[in-house]
Amino acid sequence: MRYFIGNWKMFGVPKSINILNKINSFCSKDKNRKKYSVIITPPYTLIETYAKHFKNKSIAIGSQNCYQKDQFSSDTAAVSPYMIRSVGAKYTLVGHSDNRIEGDTNIMLKNKLTFSLKNNLKVIFCIGENKKEKKNKKTFNVLKNQITKVLDKKSNVNNIIIAYEPVWSIGTGKIPNKIELKKTTIYIKKVLKRIFKKKSPPVLYGGSVDGTNVKMFKEIREIDGFLIGGASKSSKKFIDIIKNYYR
Ligand code: PEP
Repeated sequence: MRYFIGNWKMFGVPKSINILNKINSFCSKDKNRKKYSVIITPPYTLIETYAKHFKNKSIAIGSQNCYQKDQFSSDTAAVSPYMIRSVGAKYTLVGHSDNRIEGDTNIMLKNKLTFSLKNNLKVIFCIGENKKEKKNKKTFNVLKNQITKVLDKKSNVNNIIIAYEPVWSIGTGKIPNKIELKKTTIYIKKVLKRIFKKKSPPVLYGGSVDGTNVKMFKEIREIDGFLIGGASKSSKKFIDIIKNYYR
């Protein structure tokens, strides 16, 4: 199974559902349909209506983040995994670099992951080195640390997806070189294998993916799909990524 996950970030109002209607109608007719899953993470404000609208359709809805507590609390503006699940989301991102930069620590991320899994949300766990870490050749150390501080063998591996997103690549148009990315993906899978033994979760790539560079990414067979930011706000660009992946 391959994954095409669209992260809308701070984008979208109710009528933006038209973008997803176009993606859904492409996917439902696509001959490769059974080979992949499409998940979109709109902002919290749209989850309920979108999840209802696409129930039993070709698109699953997720949230972009969640609070690190289970159900209800006195934290103003916080939204818990229980609340997210209750409006129909099936997935949540955890650990996106935007949120790590805003202060999400490994302990917070472990709680987010644990409570999301407990509430039957599948977790797309984001990891990635920043520019300075890459320059100082710390990439593998950083990734190992991000993984092992949050995931352990008790986490339900069937409900976890890893998204490797080099921070320097997000929204910049810069992408890793093919050999390097292949090596990094293999390394991530090795670290995951050490934790989960038999089955390791899928590992996606994210960072400036578009309809053109996806042709290079697809040659790296270890990559199980993509987390797509900017290009997921346009039905054409998102569909082009899927089309060119299978071309
Ligand atoms: C992201 O925000 O997760 C992302 C990958 O963004 P972009 O595709 O725009 O680089």
